[in-house]
Amino acid sequence: MRPKPFQKNKSLSELSTFGIGGEARLFTEVLTVEELQQVLSHCHENALPYHPVGKGSNSLFDDQGFDGLVILNRIIFLEIEGSVVNVGGGFSFSLLGVKTARKGLGGLEFAAGIPASVGGAIFMNAGANGSETCDVLKEVTFVDEKGQLHTLLREEIAFSYRYSTFHEKKGVIASAKFHLSEDPTARKKQLEIIEYRTDTQPYGEKSCGCIFRNPIGESAGALIEKCGLKGTKIGGAEISMLHGNFIVNKAGARAEDVLKLATHVKECIKEKTGIELEMELRVVPNQK
Ligand SMILES: Cc1cc2nc3c(=O)[nH]c(=O)nc-3n(C[C@H](O)[C@H](O)[C@H](O)COP(=O)(O)OP(=O)(O)OC[C@H]3O[C@@H](n4cnc5c(N)ncnc54)[C@H](O)[C@@H]3O)c2cc1C
Repeated sequence: MRPKPFQKNKSLSELSTFGIGGEARLFTEVLTVEELQQVLSHCHENALPYHPVGKGSNSLFDDQGFDGLVILNRIIFLEIEGSVVNVGGGFSFSLLGVKTARKGLGGLEFAAGIPASVGGAIFMNAGANGSETCDVLKEVTFVDEKGQLHTLLREEIAFSYRYSTFHEKKGVIASAKFHLSEDPTARKKQLEIIEYRTDTQPYGEKSCGCIFRNPIGESAGALIEKCGLKGTKIGGAEISMLHGNFIVNKAGARAEDVLKLATHVKECIKEKTGIELEMELRVVPNQK
């Protein structure tokens, strides 16, 4: 079956928490796994480049936009049976954390406040407070580039710090199952995590969270602060005064401003400490 018609010239700044980016030549939202299969098989048959997006909370879109189809994952069902959770890839990861903790289920307390989709959290192996998404993951339903549906068990997927095998795979995470554990103190633990986050991260501002991965045994934010870079500005992009590893879009920042500022930070840190910072932020080029 043909997918529903694609929208043209969609502003990507609306799809990223950075509020940055030109237009996608084509855009569609998928609400069901079947729609996702139709869209991916259409892209395959027509050699149409595509890019999946969840909540856009780790995506820096190009100022020139994306020359292809941007697919917004809006598969948002949620089923909780005992301690097993079956959830759509477009569901809010933060809300999932809150809902499960309120039910007395532990394992995803850390998700509260991470403005991700479930698919994006699995792709990035999002984590905080010593926990990572993969810790409680049971299986993933994945639609490959030809539109074929696969179920991958946790053991079949490699995860490490902010990494999953999905970085190397073409296709889209449609849904996932998590295996949680009964914990009546889950919500209390979560409220402490939320309080810490809101005190230490610039929540009211437009950002994509941490720009750099933490080097082994170091905190990128602490290194940036120690080198006196907090508050440094290029164009509308500024290193947050609250958290050194956050770049915030103060006023109409462009992707170019963010990338120049990130390069400046890397060069300063390399010169002063010898440490080579690596990007955690996903930079989406105009062409794939
Ligand atoms: C205020 C703030 C706080 C944050 N705190 C944290 C934190 O504590 N810990 C942490 O780890 N991160 C944090 N982040 C970063 C971000 O939330 C995570 O990286 C998150 O996992 C990104 O999810 P997303 O749905 O927004 O992904 P997107 O930005 O939409 O996409 C990121 C990448 O995943 C791919 N992708 C998205 N969905 C799918 C899918 N369904 N199938 C296949 N590929 C997909 C995209 O193509 C892209 O390459 C924070 C960000 C902000 C703005």
